[in-house]
Amino acid sequence: MSETIFSKIIRGEIPCHKVYEDEQVLAFLDIFPLSRGHTLVIPKEAKATMAELSDGAAAGLGRALPRICRAVMSATGASAYNLLQNNGSAAHQAVMHVHVHIIPKYESGEGLGLVWKPGKLDASEGSLLAGKVAAALR
Ligand code: AMP
Repeated sequence: MSETIFSKIIRGEIPCHKVYEDEQVLAFLDIFPLSRGHTLVIPKEAKATMAELSDGAAAGLGRALPRICRAVMSATGASAYNLLQNNGSAAHQAVMHVHVHIIPKYESGEGLGLVWKPGKLDASEGSLLAGKVAAALR
């Protein structure tokens, strides 16, 4: 895949406000934060979307994420937060290197705003679709 700004940050060629690093993961403050403490957690493996990540890189990301969430909450004093992970430009992904946003949500409303318009799952369509996804996982 093509080089992104996050590869340069991983290599230290572009500065960041780093909060965590291990062999597989880097976390740093978002340069255009939605709220105070908005943090990005990225695998060092350069893949555009979550579905492309290797099991090893995914495990490293999953292992580090809860600890970093706890640290961001502790440092900011926020008691709520959203995790956001965009995949594909149609889903608002701008940097084509997997990243998880940790976005503290404050009493003031500062943080992630959501427009959530739920439908209702039709039972027969649900069984068909669940079956298809389960089959794709085999
Ligand atoms: P997304 O829309 O999910 O691809 O989000 C990409 C995020 O990366 C945005 O929130 C940007 O503010 C953030 N970002 C882009 N460049 C940098 C950078 N150099 N340092 C920190 N955050 C960045």
